[in-house]
Amino acid sequence: MSANQAEQKGLFWTPKGGNNADTIWASCHVFSSVAENKETGQLEKTSIIVDMGQNEMPHEFLNGAFQKVVPALDDCLSVPGEKKPENEAQAIFLTHSHSDHIAGIFEYLHMGVKLPEIYASEYTIKSLQKELLDKGIKRDQWPEMKTVEAGDKITINDMTVEPFTASHSIPGCFSFKISNGDTSIFHSGDTKADETSFLGKGVDMSSYDKIGGVELMTFDATATHMKGHATYEAEIFESYRQLFEENPDRQVIAVLPAAHMERLASVISAAAAAGKDVLINGGASMDSNILALHLAGYDLQKKCPNVRVVSANGDKAATIDPDKSVTITTGIYGGGNSPFVQKLKGENNDFVMRDNAVVITPSIGQGPEQINGLLEEYAPAGVTVITAADREIYGSGHAQADDFVKIAEHVHPVTVAPIHCSAKMAESFNVLAKQNGYETLEKRPHNGCTISVTKDGCRIVSVREPAWFGLNHEKQNDGSIRTSFSKEPDHGYSKEYDKPSSVHESFLKADQKDKNTALQERQEKAQKEIKAFHQKKALNKNIALLKQGKMYDR
Ligand SMILES: [Zn+2]
Ligand SMILES: [Zn+2]
Repeated sequence: MSANQAEQKGLFWTPKGGNNADTIWASCHVFSSVAENKETGQLEKTSIIVDMGQNEMPHEFLNGAFQKVVPALDDCLSVPGEKKPENEAQAIFLTHSHSDHIAGIFEYLHMGVKLPEIYASEYTIKSLQKELLDKGIKRDQWPEMKTVEAGDKITINDMTVEPFTASHSIPGCFSFKISNGDTSIFHSGDTKADETSFLGKGVDMSSYDKIGGVELMTFDATATHMKGHATYEAEIFESYRQLFEENPDRQVIAVLPAAHMERLASVISAAAAAGKDVLINGGASMDSNILALHLAGYDLQKKCPNVRVVSANGDKAATIDPDKSVTITTGIYGGGNSPFVQKLKGENNDFVMRDNAVVITPSIGQGPEQINGLLEEYAPAGVTVITAADREIYGSGHAQADDFVKIAEHVHPVTVAPIHCSAKMAESFNVLAKQNGYETLEKRPHNGCTISVTKDGCRIVSVREPAWFGLNHEKQNDGSIRTSFSKEPDHGYSKEYDKPSSVHESFLKADQKDKNTALQERQEKAQKEIKAFHQKKALNKNIALLKQGKMYDR
């Protein structure tokens, strides 16, 4: 564990993923402390990994040559076939359970990597374990997992990590204060400043006051280019409550994002406030999120005892009167597999849709516009469509400008740096930061940069070529999955190159037809098989749980 003696003592931050050129996927950060061992006098390095995300759009990377793309962590994890790292990471900390923050874990396990202990909230660990089971990863490959709570202090050699509750869109979200000695970083994770929640607790701003200032705050810059604050759950609850009360005798269909469990809780609470029962037809993804909620002890039915919350696939579904209730479904991005899109196209018989239904969909941005198009094309003429243009029903899970200002006022950073952002988002974040009197880094901290954090300021001390592991999983005749992977240079994914790297250039020159036929056809076929395999498995499992009454079917 002896560190390079030339390396300075101190606290360091290295973004590995999420700080990309054009996208925000694959969040992953390494924090290191280099300190003197009092007995040997040698400098020693301790590293922790915060989040291990995956690229959700692997088709953007080398024309979809890989089914999965994860940040290369072979400098702090022992990866088969790669050089043994000089400094192995001592622990993994997870901010929350969204796949752009945790799905890299599954890929590293598929690669045969032994991972260090994972620290996260109960909800995050339950979601992780559920996915490990769904993905068929054997228990003897699972890393140790430890549930931690806001207010805990975890010591890893000379580093201390303190979780703080963060507000995002699912329960169990953390920001972390990471310190060595008297130097500290506040790493926000995905966050906003919403103190209201219908699921658990909102964020408690006063808990940030106890931090007493930090040298660096790495902050979620996904939406800080937007003015105002991310709409609070309390405001969204009120909009839905009013809409439900305005339509006592018409079927109301609320189309929601599948992973936004805070929103689901707000909408169910609004239905309860308006005295309407709830029928849920959310599809495999929402079912899976609801199951993770349930496993972590969150029970929406218990929170709303005066109304019935029933799954459309359960035997109680027939007892719900569509004209008096709220039907919750998914498909705001227009995805062909989502139950609402299938309903519009006449391919879903799990719930009825009245000719005069009121459809509420938080349409904003490019994706949800697709559902508006589908509604125009397929919905009966008597259907009323309510979008975010009509009512306050859209709220981002990420901090807008005012959220940043509010959180920074409580955390008291000297320097702030953007994370979870493209180059453009980082640019506008820095403008906002400067306007509010905070120091910023001299250059964009893209994946591969290492930033030294000191009492005298924060600066980029090295810029290494970032790298990625591309993986392919192929289903074998016996049903098992064979994983192959290769280490890939950045290909301009993290930083904008003046001129393309040699690998990138040769790839660009390769015959397009070759790439399309040889690579893509093979990949598409494998992808389809694996997707079908996982979907079927997850679905069967959810149906079994529904039948046992272990979800909201009561
Ligand atoms: Zn997230
Ligand atoms: Zn995220």
